[in-house]
Amino acid sequence: MSPCAVTREADVLVIGGGLHGSSTAFHLAARGATVIVLEADYVARHSSGVNAGGVRTLGRPVPEIPLALMSREIWHALRETIGDDGGFVPSGQLKIAETEAELDDCRERVALLETHGFTHEKLIDRATLLELEPALAPHVTGGIWVERDGYALPFRTTTAFRLAAQRHGAQFFEGTPATRIEQRGTRWLAHTPRGAFSAEKLVITAGAWAGQLAAQVGEHVPVHPEGLMLMVTHRVAPFCRATLGATGRPLSFKQFDNGTVVIGGKLIGIADLDGRHGEVDFARLVRSANTVVDLFPHLRHLGVNRAWAGVEAFTDDSLPVISASRRASNLVYSFGYCGSGFQLGPACGRLVSELVLEGKASLPLDAFAIDRFARTSASERAASAVAH
Ligand SMILES: Cc1cc2nc3c(=O)[nH]c(=O)nc-3n(C[C@H](O)[C@H](O)[C@H](O)COP(=O)(O)OP(=O)(O)OC[C@H]3O[C@@H](n4cnc5c(N)ncnc54)[C@H](O)[C@@H]3O)c2cc1C
Repeated sequence: MSPCAVTREADVLVIGGGLHGSSTAFHLAARGATVIVLEADYVARHSSGVNAGGVRTLGRPVPEIPLALMSREIWHALRETIGDDGGFVPSGQLKIAETEAELDDCRERVALLETHGFTHEKLIDRATLLELEPALAPHVTGGIWVERDGYALPFRTTTAFRLAAQRHGAQFFEGTPATRIEQRGTRWLAHTPRGAFSAEKLVITAGAWAGQLAAQVGEHVPVHPEGLMLMVTHRVAPFCRATLGATGRPLSFKQFDNGTVVIGGKLIGIADLDGRHGEVDFARLVRSANTVVDLFPHLRHLGVNRAWAGVEAFTDDSLPVISASRRASNLVYSFGYCGSGFQLGPACGRLVSELVLEGKASLPLDAFAIDRFARTSASERAASAVAH
């Protein structure tokens, strides 16, 4: 078959079968659209299947909070929505302060959110923190607590969205990379080694690779890949219920029911975009291991079972792109989730389906517009990233 022969047609083509592509496909198909998802590797192969599973509204940049709160409600009703709860455990999430100065930072953060009308993050004192997590080291000073946050199982969640989308008729083509996209008349074409796929509307949810596709349309986004790392320990008797982060140093930490502990927290390994994989840098993992031991000294001799890295998309201002194209019609982007897009997947899929089918989403998405980078200088973007 010639590479230009159109093999399949649908109302909407989605490029990228991570959580965002699968969730978008589910929401589109549930509303009656015919949907084809093209996935270069296999569904959930990348960030969406290998992340830390944190379902966290805590600590979000202000523009993301309405999306995160919408997503949280979907997480709590996931079984009713897609037939599987994705292993979601509403463990609560804690951000720990280890000094008085860090507790002041937490106080300022909670006050800032209140000025925006958000009350989901609660400041807690040392006694409350130790009541919640008695195994913590005594030097902690308090922190922030979000009771309705938690964690879930990434591969299971993404697969559940994919299966739910398929039950509504969506078709997934794995091992099918879109190498070139073009708009011919009123139709989008995605060229792949298995022929061309065609639809009136196109959604790009290609994670760290999305910038390459956007560039084909002439939209140049400052998005770059990072290899984010995680490690999982041997089993240990239950000692920690909440999902934890720290205020003064990067940490993401949770203990599963089987006793293993997953440790991460913006740990940067090596990302190989062309090779389509991430690699672990063991020397850098040591830093997180030390943070964990400072907070839970009894884990000092706990062994690490394995470590891995996933390829994640980061933007210059630490916010995702969730936006209609400014250069082409019937094209919507959703990518660049900067290490925290798992929690947002359920809501963003819904919002993107609204953008595609109605031309407008039910929450404001101005902060995530694809042309924002052209409107602000690099120094303004850097300042905005610090303010977040
Ligand atoms: C180690 C790690 C820990 C993390 N922890 C958390 C956490 O605790 N909480 C949280 O909220 N978030 C977390 N994240 C971030 C989260 O996993 C991501 O933000 C989210 O999964 C991004 O989903 P996505 O669908 O946009 O991208 P991806 O999962 O990367 O999916 C994009 C897909 O597009 C496919 N693709 C790319 N190009 C093409 C093409 N040309 N044609 C066809 N297919 C293509 C890729 O193969 C890929 O499968 C973590 C990420 C990592 C790596």
